[in-house]
Parts: sequence; C-alpha cells; structure tokens
Amino acid sequence: MEEPPSFIADEMNGRLARWLRILGFDCLYISGGNADNNILKLALKTGRIVLTGDKELYRKIIRRGGYAILTPGDTLENKFRYLKNKIDLKKWVGKLPHRCSVCNSILVKVPSSTIPDLPPSVKERFTYVWHCNNCGKTYWEGSHWINIKKQIKRLLT
Ligand SMILES: [Zn+2]
Repeated sequence: MEEPPSFIADEMNGRLARWLRILGFDCLYISGGNADNNILKLALKTGRIVLTGDKELYRKIIRRGGYAILTPGDTLENKFRYLKNKIDLKKWVGKLPHRCSVCNSILVKVPSSTIPDLPPSVKERFTYVWHCNNCGKTYWEGSHWINIKKQIKRLLT
C-alpha cells in the first residue's frame, strides 16, 4: 500500500502543520536557530516533504535532491491551496490515525475514566477520549469539534 506523505514545516508554517496533524498527517515543525540546516538534513535523510515559504530554502532542498513545496501567502487558506495543488490530501482523509496537534504523536483511544485531570462533565459525556502519551494532552469531540470539522471542509474544498 502507498504510504501517506509526511512533512516538515518551517517556522512560517506552524498553523499549516497544526492542521495537517488534525487531518492525521505526520508533520514535524522545525524552528529556531539553524532551522534551515536542520530541515535540509532531515529532509534528505528521511524523504519528508518540506513545506516552506522561503524560496532560498526551497531551492536548496530541490538542488540537493530533496522534496519541497513552496507555500507562499500569509493565510492558512492560501498555504493550503498551494499544498493541495501538489498533493492529493483528500484521498488520505479518514484513513490516517488520530494525531496530537501539539506534538505530532499518534493518539490512543482510552476510557475517559482513566484520565485523572479531566473535567467531570467531560467524563460524564464521553466514555472514550483520545490521549497523547507523549505530551499528555487529551482530546474529545466537544462543541469545538463542529468548528474544526467546518474548517477542515473549508480547507479541503
Ligand atoms: Zn502530544
């Protein structure tokens, strides 16, 4: 079976990384000092697709035989548009694991009673929640979920 695409987002693409993770895509986020070099090295080593707004970095990666997509524009919608033109994201939606939007780890479905610091109202409403064993964040399909679904629809169409 074909592997889903995996990504590295640069510091201009933090929001894009977050939304790719919400869709279930494996997307690292690399920023800070020496980020360009770290991104380049990791991209060549792993074959991950680099998402960058930086033409210089984009050219560098392509020249060295890596894979990069330029994501200019300052809004999430614009960046997504560039990405969608290059990669068929839609065909993966619903087939990928749930992923932590904060740290990119795969979430596990657990009984809500096993998470001690969850508000009692959440425990009452949801028998199961999604938990990140790496950063400790817990997710449930609360009212904010409707907005997330709406945004996903907007980004993908
Ligand atoms: Zn996490």
